Amino acid sequence: MVSFPTPSGTSQTRILLLGGTQEGRLLAEALAQDRSVAAVYSLAGVTRTPILPDVSVRIGGFGGVDGLCEWLMTARIDAVIDATHPFAARMSGTVVRACATLHVPLLRLVRPGWVASAEDRWEIVPDLDSAAAALGSDPRRVLLTTGRKDLAPFCRTPHHHYVIRSIDMPDPDRLPPDATVILDRPPFTLQAELALLRAQRIDIVVTKNAGSDATFMKLEAARMLDIPVIMVARPILAAAPETQTVAGALAWLRHLSHDATLRSV
Ligand code: NAP
Repeated sequence: MVSFPTPSGTSQTRILLLGGTQEGRLLAEALAQDRSVAAVYSLAGVTRTPILPDVSVRIGGFGGVDGLCEWLMTARIDAVIDATHPFAARMSGTVVRACATLHVPLLRLVRPGWVASAEDRWEIVPDLDSAAAALGSDPRRVLLTTGRKDLAPFCRTPHHHYVIRSIDMPDPDRLPPDATVILDRPPFTLQAELALLRAQRIDIVVTKNAGSDATFMKLEAARMLDIPVIMVARPILAAAPETQTVAGALAWLRHLSHDATLRSV
């Protein structure tokens, strides 16, 4: 493995990797094998027992743009990769501003969104409040996979029965009154999703356009059973250079190291 002189003056490129997605973890695992890189993997601390890669890990918010700028300077970070969830708009905005302030290179690793096929029955809505409203006035049995922190809009439409799937137990005080909680961690297979939709007699699915392969099969199952889906569209994120793949992020890092080498000769 070749190592390069970098802006931090060390022979390793010092990377802050903002995680929260499967792709972020896979990238961290790849960086753990790369001796030209010293990566710090950062999580917000939302998942109680996250799967952690074999690199340095820090957990918790930075304290907005100022806090992140201070952290980046103290840790002498050469480059940042934002692999947070496509709905983590606040963190993605913060990192764009902090990196612009400090002139630190930034790349966003974001998987493509799901796209409906002709057989899908999706209603695309702009946000969670619209998703709750779109369920309508007749009581329905809803598979709700928007995340345990996003239940408030559905507490305001309490006439539906919600089957809520989450990695961690939601706060009981924040659950809609008529709810079944299923604790499970992706990936989910097509067979398991078909069985869940049938067993729970689901007549509508509410989800965010996360785009993950690991959680796609509920949409395939809904299509096969002709169940409608309310799909919350992605928020618009602050502009930043993007890649959709872990391989793309690794290539970007190689270019960065190469450019630093050229600057140092
Ligand atoms: P958010 O609204 O964009 O972030 C809220 C705050 O959490 C940020 O302002 C930041 O605090 C802190 N934060 C977020 N990601 C962080 C990271 N990787 N490392 C350190 N601090 C982080 O995001 P969110 O929607 O609450 O999601 C929180 C985390 O869960 C994200 O990392 C995201 O990737 C992951 N996640 C989110 C969803 C979702 O549907 N939103 C789904 C799966 C996973 P400071 O301002 O104090 O720095």
